[in-house]
Amino acid sequence: KKKTKKSGLLFAKSKKFHANGVNHNIRFFEPYPFVTRSAKGKFLQDVDGNKYIDYWMGHWSLILGHAHPAVSNQVKKQLPSCWMHGTVNEMTVSFSEIIQKAVPVAEKIRYVSSGTEATMYAVRIARAFTGKKIIAKIDGGWHGYATDLLKSVNWPFDQQESKGVADDLHVVSMPYNDLQKSLNILNSVKDDLAGVIIEPVLGGGGCIPATKEYLAGIQEFVHKNNALFLLDEIVTGFRFSFGCLYKMMGLDPDIVTLGKIVGGGFPIGVICGKDKIMDITDTSSHTKMDRSYIGGGTFSANPITMTAGRAMLSHLKKNSGSLYDKIGALGERARKELTQVFDGKVVTTGKGSLFMTHFLSNDISEIKSAQDASRCNAKMLQKYHFDMIAKDGIFFLPGKLGAFSAVHSQSDVKDLICASERFAATI
Ligand code: PMP
Repeated sequence: KKKTKKSGLLFAKSKKFHANGVNHNIRFFEPYPFVTRSAKGKFLQDVDGNKYIDYWMGHWSLILGHAHPAVSNQVKKQLPSCWMHGTVNEMTVSFSEIIQKAVPVAEKIRYVSSGTEATMYAVRIARAFTGKKIIAKIDGGWHGYATDLLKSVNWPFDQQESKGVADDLHVVSMPYNDLQKSLNILNSVKDDLAGVIIEPVLGGGGCIPATKEYLAGIQEFVHKNNALFLLDEIVTGFRFSFGCLYKMMGLDPDIVTLGKIVGGGFPIGVICGKDKIMDITDTSSHTKMDRSYIGGGTFSANPITMTAGRAMLSHLKKNSGSLYDKIGALGERARKELTQVFDGKVVTTGKGSLFMTHFLSNDISEIKSAQDASRCNAKMLQKYHFDMIAKDGIFFLPGKLGAFSAVHSQSDVKDLICASERFAATI
């Protein structure tokens, strides 16, 4: 608290204006979050002048780090020609050309301004296209805050997530990586199953990769039963390679949602789908009665987001070989060495540049689902992360997974390990 006096005062003021002082629930942590003044490269700087090596990286959207010139130069160039047109623009077309090449399922694309909108629309398309109602999701799966999918996100999964959402009786939930149990659930609703929505690496639910066998098994069932396989790659898209994880895993989704990285740090959501499915959203060839309405959003495909996204993907494409190898190696080293540092007290999960530390409790020894993750010692994780913020100038959003970006280096892993060693000695 001594180091963050100005933050303390400003946050107290923020509480006067905003419920709990924040505008995204997870940005609050005890006793109060520091208030950021600026960010550059791997650092966040707060209003008291403290610097933090950032592993939160803008909700994992900033794979090049903060304020990367590859993006900012293009955005600066665009600003004089205006940041908002509200009409069709050129940069959207060239941006989509890049996405379509890298993500073959994107035979047709629609842009929105958040991941939440993208998944909300994906679900709507699945229901419209199949004429069925039920959507299956994963226990602990986070697809944003739209009413349809704000279900079975946090433990205990069978409790409602919020007051004020009319209970969606048309959403069922399945345990991640448990194919048999999941198929049983799907089988019980198969006649009215419109689609399944899954993150190939559970993000908010604990940084847990799905096995190929699990995803392929679900996909097979879904396709056999004339439903749609929706992959939410908002976290995983362009995170492990130049493109999507589904391609690396040999999957065949019908719709893929993207967000975060592809916006270059500006607000974005993307619905990518096969032509025959996305056709139902075409308002010229469909009447109100037989279309799926998905095209709204004042800021959809605005020139700044499109320019930033195009700059981000162009840069990633040019540097993809070395960049993904580098950040993947940092992630692998962090997972391995953190496990050693905590000497059997933790399990680390993740893939490539994404990693998370789980403090074991309740006889848990393996983390394969959000259920396993929620039975770990979340308080200890918060304490560990907070300790590093206060003493080491290392920032993880307390309780959340960390992400390496192109601006991190082996010496950052070393510092992270040293800080973790110090914390491990206190528990
Ligand atoms: N899907 C996934 C997998 C996510 O991780 C998130 C955001 N963390 C969303 C959807 C929602 O995206 P947004 O916050 O942009 O609405």
